[in-house]
Amino acid sequence: MATPLDEKIVILKDQVKKLQSQKDTLIKELDTIEEKFENQDRLYRKYFPIIIDTVGAGDTYFARVCKDLSLALKKGASFVKIAYIFEQLKTAMIKEGVGPVPVKKKKGMFASLMKSSSNNFIEDFKQSYQDILNTLRSTLDKKYATRMENITTRIISAEDMGDINDIRESIFGLVFVYISETNQDREKMNSFVQDIVGKILDIEAKLAFSHDQTRSLFSSNSGFEILLNTELTSLQKTSNVATSLDDLKLQITQRLASIEQALTKKQLKDKAIQAAAEKNRHLFKTGFARLKQELDEATQYSEQLEEKLNQDQLTGSFNRRAYDNKIEDEMERFLRYGTHFSLLLIDADKFKNINDRYGHAVGDKCLQEIIKRSLPLLRKNDMLARYGGEEFVVIMPETDAVGAKEAAEKIRQTIEKIEFLYKKEVVRVTVSIGITQVQDGDKTHLQVFERADMAVYKAKEKGRNQVLVH
Ligand code: GH3
Ligand code: MG
Ligand code: MG
Repeated sequence: MATPLDEKIVILKDQVKKLQSQKDTLIKELDTIEEKFENQDRLYRKYFPIIIDTVGAGDTYFARVCKDLSLALKKGASFVKIAYIFEQLKTAMIKEGVGPVPVKKKKGMFASLMKSSSNNFIEDFKQSYQDILNTLRSTLDKKYATRMENITTRIISAEDMGDINDIRESIFGLVFVYISETNQDREKMNSFVQDIVGKILDIEAKLAFSHDQTRSLFSSNSGFEILLNTELTSLQKTSNVATSLDDLKLQITQRLASIEQALTKKQLKDKAIQAAAEKNRHLFKTGFARLKQELDEATQYSEQLEEKLNQDQLTGSFNRRAYDNKIEDEMERFLRYGTHFSLLLIDADKFKNINDRYGHAVGDKCLQEIIKRSLPLLRKNDMLARYGGEEFVVIMPETDAVGAKEAAEKIRQTIEKIEFLYKKEVVRVTVSIGITQVQDGDKTHLQVFERADMAVYKAKEKGRNQVLVH
């Protein structure tokens, strides 16, 4: 996933590439000037086709001269003839204010910036170009005044990067015309071109530093910013002090290489930081997920453990431990809030006989069946537990003795009706149930249990298979 930092680096790298291509263009132009001084004829032959192709269309004096020149070049006319036509062409260019503006607009030069440029950014450009134009005005002949006025007007009314780009092209064109027209000494020409190169680099540097996104990237790495500033400043200085074109080329190439290197280094560093952050995030995420899973498993395990701890193995019902916990809670609630509850104690009648007669397995089956048949008769909040042996308890929260007795009676009748088959013989089991309700003065659940136990004892005394309230 691309981060804002990545995008900024891409933009910055684009800009450095643009700087580089700008450098190449400028060096090419400088080469051209060299060529001019080396071979005037070759220069003419090189540039005229471009001029003819770009501005030769239409029916003007300039266009007619262009056609003449084109013809002369094709015929391989003598230098004297070509020079004569060139003189005519220069006059036409100045008169009609035409320059070697390319027919096709260079696309993509500032394309990425055109969309995102702010007004301040454009104002900066306008100011910079006006400065360049002022420099040109002090150097260039009066005959260029009209063209310069024209460019100034366009600078003032420029609204977007498209306009700025056009102005840039016109300035280049003006410089180009000046170079091709002026026969000054090489030293003077060179320093003038270097000055222009420096100013254009200044604009490109502004382009790099003024752009909001770039600026915010730089602010995140001041060291890098300082380095870039230094390199770009010394690049401009180099342009001014270079003693030869070769020297200038070398210096520019070295500085750009240094910027490129710093950028690559920073990119690698940023990538490493990003990768580390990503790794940490991933580790944190997986670690967190694993921790959560372990916690879930532990919770599940403890729940299972708790369930087992509270479960009677034979019947699957709650066991004595569960009963103890629940009765303590109920007692506490009663003592604190006066919330009533009832307790049932269920004891299988003559169960010893069942075991003796049909075997322990049948006895077990009876105990399981008592639980199975009783549970559906109880409410959700009631708790049925095996107290031990053939004894069961039911805690009935918020139930008085009357309600408890009704439930107990249902249980007794249900169990009484169960018929177990043992080798064609019908086995029946009954229960005696003692009931008590928690009452004022009870301090512990043991007192409550004692009363229920007493009630069971009495039920047994009275003949078993009955419910008795204490
Ligand atoms: P009473 O009506 O007076 O309660 O007679 P009883 O025989 O049920 O009472 P007693 O306390 O004398 O005997 C309880 C019997 O319950 C003894 C034992 O064989 C049986 N018993 C206790 N626990 C289990 C058990 O887990 N499985 C089986 N099959 N029998 C059990
Ligand atoms: Mg018993
Ligand atoms: Mg019994």
